[in-house]
Amino acid sequence: MRASISSIKLYKACRRAYQLKYINRLVPMQKADALETGTNYHAKLEQLYKTGDFDKDLTKETAMALAYKRWIYPLFVGQSAEDRFECRVGKHTLVGITDGIAADGCIIEHKTTSLLSLDEYEYNLQWDEQLMAYMLATGARKVYYTVCRKPNIRQKASESDEEFFERMCDWYYTDTDDKIRLFEITKTDAEIEAFRKSLNEVMTEMEYTVDYYKNTCHCHSWGRQCEYASICLTYRPGDTPANFETW
Ligand code: SF4
Repeated sequence: MRASISSIKLYKACRRAYQLKYINRLVPMQKADALETGTNYHAKLEQLYKTGDFDKDLTKETAMALAYKRWIYPLFVGQSAEDRFECRVGKHTLVGITDGIAADGCIIEHKTTSLLSLDEYEYNLQWDEQLMAYMLATGARKVYYTVCRKPNIRQKASESDEEFFERMCDWYYTDTDDKIRLFEITKTDAEIEAFRKSLNEVMTEMEYTVDYYKNTCHCHSWGRQCEYASICLTYRPGDTPANFETW
């Protein structure tokens, strides 16, 4: 079995969603706004690490990337960007792509959030399996985790696009540590070994399962409707559902 930690997490969250995404290979043509922001922000950081700068427009993603460049980038100048990894887990293979590797060999992960508190974000990271997967793959016991909040301000009717963009950039200068922050997450060898065993069991189950049942507790996780809700009940292999494409 070859699987990414994202696919494993989705399998654990809802087998039906996993089936639609990774077996039927369907993805929505229109990304949720939150995912779109994260993708655009990542693209700018990737460009930053490859070229030393990035394309600027008047979007919130540019304001976020400028904040990153000012407060976090100096700590990781020279890191590599977007590294692939493969790691054996029992007879299975865990695959993935990291956002970067720091000079000390530890993985760097970049995230965006709409949460109002980065303290709450840090608390939740204790359960983050993506971080443990990275540690398992690299042998490191530390991950650098950067989190940038999306500006939660709205454009005023009297404000031009340029003025609103300036206000989004300025937003990061007040209570900066509550808006963009670097966390260092560490785990012990025992914690990573326990994670390896649990991952091996889940991947073995994934390999042989034929019952992709629905987990309706997951339909509104993270405060938004599941992106497969419109086809969850009706899709049959061979259908070509509107607003979805195959990958
Ligand atoms: S709508 Fe609910 S049950 Fe259906 S795939 Fe999504 S999370 Fe699973």
